[in-house]
Amino acid sequence: MATVPPISVMSFHLNRASLSHSTVNLSLPFMLDGDGDGGEAPSRCPRPIAALPNEFNPSYLKIYYNKLFPHADLYRWMSYGNDGKHPACDSSYLGRRKFSYTLDNDIFVRYNTFNSAAELENSIKDKCPLKIDIGPIYNLNIRYESLNASAGDNVLTPVERELIFDIDMSDYDDVRYCCSGADVCLNCWPLMIVAVKVIDTSLRDDFGFRHILWVYSGRRGVHCWVCDRKARRLTNEQRAAVADYFRVYKENENNYKKVSLMGQVLHPFLARSYTEVLKEYFETKLLTSQNLLSSKERYEKILEMIPDQSIASELRGKWQESRRSSSAKEDINIVQWEQLKQLLQKHKAQGVRRCVEEIVFTYTYPRLDMEVSKHMNHLLKAPFCVHPKIGRVCVPINPNNCEEFDPTTVPTLIQLLEELNREGLRSDVEGEWNKTSLANAIKLFRSSFLQPLLKICKEELESSYNAKLQQSKNLLSW
Ligand SMILES: [Zn+2]
Repeated sequence: MATVPPISVMSFHLNRASLSHSTVNLSLPFMLDGDGDGGEAPSRCPRPIAALPNEFNPSYLKIYYNKLFPHADLYRWMSYGNDGKHPACDSSYLGRRKFSYTLDNDIFVRYNTFNSAAELENSIKDKCPLKIDIGPIYNLNIRYESLNASAGDNVLTPVERELIFDIDMSDYDDVRYCCSGADVCLNCWPLMIVAVKVIDTSLRDDFGFRHILWVYSGRRGVHCWVCDRKARRLTNEQRAAVADYFRVYKENENNYKKVSLMGQVLHPFLARSYTEVLKEYFETKLLTSQNLLSSKERYEKILEMIPDQSIASELRGKWQESRRSSSAKEDINIVQWEQLKQLLQKHKAQGVRRCVEEIVFTYTYPRLDMEVSKHMNHLLKAPFCVHPKIGRVCVPINPNNCEEFDPTTVPTLIQLLEELNREGLRSDVEGEWNKTSLANAIKLFRSSFLQPLLKICKEELESSYNAKLQQSKNLLSW
């Protein structure tokens, strides 16, 4: 295992000016490639995340993994209670889990497996991956299996995997005007808050899941891990059914995602999402922050969604007129939205009335990467990784107050090292992370997710063990 110099004698100076100097001289493929960045600068963004200086340097990762990364928490989570001495523990459990690494110079190591907490921690510290992805649990230990590949009677098959959701801001580019591609700002971030609220509520209320982890993806979106035992054991077909439950978009030939809400009444899940989340976020945030009706080009997109041509042209007339005689007193987006609602909602045809809801859905409803959720073998980035392009840590988001989550204040790798440096060698029983702004993220991970999860895992182990005992007693009593 490589040794890391103590923070106090590191050869670089931990201040932003000198760091941006030192980092630009390193030609890092991960900082310089253009994946999803888009060339368009977000001119109206108040604080675009992508505009941060190059705050990432693989050599700092070494310190992060040695001093801050919560290896033990990752190990305990991934073990789901199978790490103790209880006779019902499955000691092969962790070893059947696939972890993938992305290393410097674009090297991808697909299969890593670990049989103990020490193996996992030492491997991460040693390899210092730019990204750690978590894959499924297989029926066999992958390492053992690859050694015995020639003997292979057994086919390596995924048997367990968290139900996962990946929501990416770049999928909202046709309904946000502040940024595009991988950029996000506080004007478009509410789209992610809507997604967390809608999906989290449904997973709990409609599906009965309890152990759900939301994580900021480090740049442009959020990940969701549903970790209940019944979620981990869903088949691909069942996963597809869950994903389809959330599907409302019908993509047309222009790849423009328009929502069509069919049926006499809205499905209760959609009705609840609309009244409890979508409508409010559309009317009080996105309508004005995105200026959805402020220009002809933008309002024409909305008028196109109205099935009744006479209403659309009546509104078009009003809006052209109001632009000529506009007083700055009232927000033009709000005024015009009220006019649209008035005309549509009094219409006798249901399809026309429903159009108000369809517009709100089109501009706010969560856009899931369906393929990620449908297949057990999809990889997903581990929480607490550092985003290799902008250096932000993938921290958990509390769904109960997700509206307070601010992606622009998520700790960066550099910031954490600065904090460590400032705190110096002050000893801390909890771990070095406790001296940094990573502390809140790790405490939230433990209190809201890991501890309740491990409690239920222990109970499940206990009850399956008791059931087996009872079974063998019954057999003996014959
Ligand atoms: Zn934005």
